[in-house]
Amino acid sequence: MTISLLSDANQRLEKALQYVTIDDDVATRLHYPKASLVVSIPVRMDDGTLRVFQGYRVRYDDSRGPTKGGVRYHPSVSLDEVQSLAFWMTFKCAVLNLPFGGAKGGITLNPKELSKFELERLTRGYVDAIADFIGPDIDIPAPDVYTNPMVMGWMMDQYNIIRRKLVPAVVTGKPITMGGSLGRETATAMGAFFVMQRALPWLGRTPAETTVAVQGFGNAGAIIAELLYHAGYRVVAVSDSKGGVYAPQGLDIPSVRQIKNANQEIKAVYCTGTVCSDVDHEVISNEQLLELDVDVLVPAALENQITSSNAHHIRAPFIFEVANGPITSDADPILEERGIQVFPDILVNAGGVTVSYFEWVQNRSGLYWSLEEVNGRLETSMNRETDNIWAIAKDLHTSLRTAAYVHALNRLGDAIKAKGTRDFYMN
Ligand code: GLU
Repeated sequence: MTISLLSDANQRLEKALQYVTIDDDVATRLHYPKASLVVSIPVRMDDGTLRVFQGYRVRYDDSRGPTKGGVRYHPSVSLDEVQSLAFWMTFKCAVLNLPFGGAKGGITLNPKELSKFELERLTRGYVDAIADFIGPDIDIPAPDVYTNPMVMGWMMDQYNIIRRKLVPAVVTGKPITMGGSLGRETATAMGAFFVMQRALPWLGRTPAETTVAVQGFGNAGAIIAELLYHAGYRVVAVSDSKGGVYAPQGLDIPSVRQIKNANQEIKAVYCTGTVCSDVDHEVISNEQLLELDVDVLVPAALENQITSSNAHHIRAPFIFEVANGPITSDADPILEERGIQVFPDILVNAGGVTVSYFEWVQNRSGLYWSLEEVNGRLETSMNRETDNIWAIAKDLHTSLRTAAYVHALNRLGDAIKAKGTRDFYMN
């Protein structure tokens, strides 16, 4: 039986609802996505054939502002996945107190099989199909798995063509020359790094005493691995979709990134690279990486990596979820019982959408910020909400995940209530 991702995501909502006094109307509203658009995108391929791709855009809830969320290009994209990712975005934006609701988009494909020309035609076709569903005051797409500034630039350009004017605030994560923000590309990793640095003393540790394994070596995983390496953590394992490497004495992350960029594969890192002879390492699978005996585990790839089948084998006492939804709800109690503390995705990876908000603000004001200003504001926001969630968890004796949902629910509840609930009308 396949479990719907959205109903799994809703389990977290149910749990948090036990800890808040909130109008029933709020809970009822938050169980359903506001609007889901499914589109077919016909694309003329380079060889002259016509292929039709399936695309989605879901606006989950807009009670706190226009909806916000990335667009994912991946073979496993489905309506259910996009809806649950939009659900998480709703809570993530509320956790960071951004004036946004949650959305998500996606196209089902393996982008590595398409040429750049084909990807551009596909992206422009997607924007044509969803143009009436998005806009700077309605819904603002951004990058996610396998989309990047180049794709966002095409999206903005196509939207401009349709509207016959420049509308930079319709998409975030754009190239800097097209109105992108400094610091947006590193923002997800940087935000996660701030959370980790903030929490480390509470966990009774220092960077030098902390070993880390990072699953995923994309925009988020590779950058957080490098930030941790430079801050003095011992990053002992990294992986990409094809597999990973493990070196108990620690990996030289900048050179891993360099070799990965040249070879496109982590496994190539130590076997063919110049450091091959200097560093003892083991080639491991993604599953093995998750079960390593490390202090901190950082899942930074896709959802559903830690489930009820492998939660018993996880050895890291601390997990920082840089990916969206890497742990299923049935794995939560197993990890909790075993004393494993999970810093949840809706806080840890919220740096990306926070700097997306800064980009949207800069586009609308026309005043552009320095990298120091972006990172400074990001650090303030991440620290503030890490402190808030830590305090709620202590106060309510809950997991950090439940505390994060409670925190978001209170903010969402206030916004939904302000528009009228049963109590509002009947009392
Ligand atoms: N895709 C990112 C996320 O999952 C960023 C979304 C955004 O910037 O709007 O948080």
